[in-house]
Parts: sequence; C-alpha cells; structure tokens
Amino acid sequence: MTMEEIRALKGTKDIFGDEMRKWLDIEDIIRNLCDDFGFGQIRTPIFEFTKLFKRGVGETTDIVNKEMYSFIDKGENDITLKPESTAAVVRAYLEHAMYADTQPTKLYYISPTFRYEKPQTGRQRQFHQFGIEMFGSDSPSADAEVIAVGHTLLKRLGIKKVELHINSLGGPECRKRYNETLKAYLHSKEERLCDLCKERMDKNPLRVLDCKNEKCQGELTDAPTVLDTLGEECKAHFKKLQELLTAMNISFIVDPSIVRGLDYYTKTVFEFISNDIGAQGTVCGGGRYDKLVEEIGGKPTPAVGFGAGMERLLLVREAENKDAFSEASRDIFIGYRGDEAMLEAFKLVNDLRQSGISAESDHLQRSIKAQMKYANKINAKFSAIIGESELQEQSVQIKNMETGEAVTVPFMQLVDVMKNILAKL
Ligand code: ATP
Ligand code: MG
Repeated sequence: MTMEEIRALKGTKDIFGDEMRKWLDIEDIIRNLCDDFGFGQIRTPIFEFTKLFKRGVGETTDIVNKEMYSFIDKGENDITLKPESTAAVVRAYLEHAMYADTQPTKLYYISPTFRYEKPQTGRQRQFHQFGIEMFGSDSPSADAEVIAVGHTLLKRLGIKKVELHINSLGGPECRKRYNETLKAYLHSKEERLCDLCKERMDKNPLRVLDCKNEKCQGELTDAPTVLDTLGEECKAHFKKLQELLTAMNISFIVDPSIVRGLDYYTKTVFEFISNDIGAQGTVCGGGRYDKLVEEIGGKPTPAVGFGAGMERLLLVREAENKDAFSEASRDIFIGYRGDEAMLEAFKLVNDLRQSGISAESDHLQRSIKAQMKYANKINAKFSAIIGESELQEQSVQIKNMETGEAVTVPFMQLVDVMKNILAKL
C-alpha cells in the first residue's frame, strides 16, 4: 500500500497541533457562551435514516438533491451522514418527548457535518457546525435570544467586521402569496436568468433569490420583496424582533435578499456575514422553523435556531484577530545529566504534574545543550537541570527562561515553590 492510496479524502482534514488548540479554544468559548445563555449540549449520532433529512431539509434543496452522503448499510437501511444537525435534533426532541418538559427546550451542538460539495477555501466535505435550537416558543424574544447568542459569540471571538442581516419569510400563508407574486415576476425575466434559476423558479422560487450567479443577481434587483406581502401577525412579529434587538444593542440590517437555503424556515431568517473571507462570507445563519417539528411527525411546535460553520469561524477569527491565540507552552522543563539524575528528574516532573503544573523532561537522551534548546522549543517558562551536585545537595536551581533570574530550591519544596511563582505570574 502506498501513501497515495490512503491519503485523507478530498474535502476532509486532519486537525492537530496548533490548529487543534485553536479549535479547543473556540470550543471552550462556545461551551461557556451556551452556559451563559442556558443552552445544554446534545450529541446526536453521525448517521440517521435518509428519510429524516429528505423530510427535514426539504426535497428541493441542494443538500438533499446533490450533497448527501447516503448509502445502504449491511442491514439494508438507507442511511445518511448528517448534512446538518437541526433535523437530527428535532428527531431527538420528539423521540425523548422533550416537549413534555418545561418549555422552552434549549439545545446546542458542535458536530461533524457531511456534504458532497466542491472543496475550496471554507468549503469542505466533512466540516463542523456549531448550532443552537430553541423549541416551544413562538415569541420574537426567542428569535432575539438566538440571534444574541450568535452576536455574543462573534464578540467573544473578537470578530468585528461582520454584519447581521435579518429578514422575514412570513408564515405559510404569506409564503404562498409571495411565491405566486415572485413566480410571475421571475417568468417576466426568464430569458435572462441562468439555467439553474429557470429550473428552480417554479419548484422553489425563493431559492432563485439566493443564486450565486452575479448576472442573475443583477437582474433581480427590483424583485418584489417578501416583506411587502407579510400578513399582520408576521409583520408584528418581525417588528417586535427589531425592537428587541435594538433594546439589546444588537445592530442589524433588514435585508430582503436573505432567504436561506433550507426549506424549513418560516418568519425570521438571518445571517451574520463577514467581508473578510471572500465569497463564503456567511459565518452563521439561521431562523425560525415553526413547521419542521410537525413535518418530522410531532405536534405543531414553534422553534428557532442557527448553524455556524466552525471552519469559517476559525478563518474569520484568524483574519481579524491573530493575537487571540498564544502558542503551546509548559510551566517547567527539568533536564538531567546521568542515570541517577534521570530518576530524580522524572520523579519531580511527575510530582509537579500531579499538582496541576505542566512539566516536561527529556525522552531522547539529549546533551545538556540540546535539552536547553528543547526547553526553548516547547516554550518552557522555567527550566532546571539536575546533575551530580544537585543530587548531593538535594536541591536545584530553577531559572526563569525569559528574565534569566534564578533561585535555588530544595527538591522537597519544588512543587510548592513553583505553585507560588506561577500564581504570581
Ligand atoms: P453556502 O451558501 O455557503 O453553501 P449553506 O446555506 O449551505 O451555505 P447552511 O446549510 O446554512 O449553509 O450551513 C450553516 C453554515 O455552515 C454556513 O453558514 C457555513 O458557515 C457552514 N458551511 C456550510 N457548508 C459548508 C462546507 N461545505 N464547508 C464548511 N462550512 C460549511
Ligand atoms: Mg451550501
């Protein structure tokens, strides 16, 4: 077998080293954020019955039409690697009767997600989504809270150059009305639109507004907007949402071109868009989906949520806020010369680690000079070398690698002294 044959598949990535530390850092921020907002984590399986996503995501979407990793398993089940998590979370919500608990139910996930797409910057075949879902409330305050989670996340990540665009697609009634108006309009432009738009305009006219083709976008500038056709209730809902956002100091742009790719949205839709990472600028998108729970077999249940691409969050954070991230380091490196000193060094390193101090020694029989180089390489804050005289004295000099300052400490007291020094740093 050659490496060529077993390379990681196109559109997938190994995450390790500094990159991994960046992920863990963002994941920590997300966990704290969700704690603050009262969302609990849920982990659903990587695969589900294909039916769930066909139903949940919608037959006319790109995801279901061309992007799903579906296959028949050995038990002849038609299953699919999750191409998004909302449908799976709804399934779990119903399967475990979470609706019977006090509402709302507030959940979040960080999950691998699979779509067969053309890989490019910020677009992979296995990527990861952070998402939240709130079930059981139709109040615009739920929409506002979900948006506030996204807003606070970007703030905590130090991402500033991002705009919040919001829109309302209305309920099924408004949607039906709007679809008719929009279809008539699109037919009047039919000749000048791309083939994909032509194909979509009857099945799912909203998606035409989402076309990535600039020529089409140019043709659609005077398209009727869904906001003009909203009924009274939807209008009031959207207005209250805007009042809430303003009260929460979250700035936004009302943008009728935001329609989102998935079929399940009703009323509020929104995107946080960055100008820093090129065409794939949507870092977080979501909205209300009051019909989805019913669609998947539950009782009518209002719900609202969002999904954010982890890779894109990392890209934007990197582009805007390089300093956010510090390199890996150790509190102390303890080197040694000779077999007996080796025993003492590893004993001390182990004692330090037991007390929560990150310590390292040498595993490669390096020379003293090379050990010090290694201590530098791993960004040790302090270093110590144990040789014959240290063994005799039962003490060691610990040196601050940055200032060169040194103190001599008995082996017995090393843990306590290090604890004190680190606490003061
Ligand atoms: P796009 O229009 O960019 O394809 P989408 O509408 O398919 O996005 P959603 O289904 O709403 O995206 O997914 C939510 C988020 O997940 C996106 O905003 C993006 O950050 C991220 N995302 C979607 N597809 C990919 C992918 N193939 N690779 C990496 N991240 C992705
Ligand atoms: Mg997509």
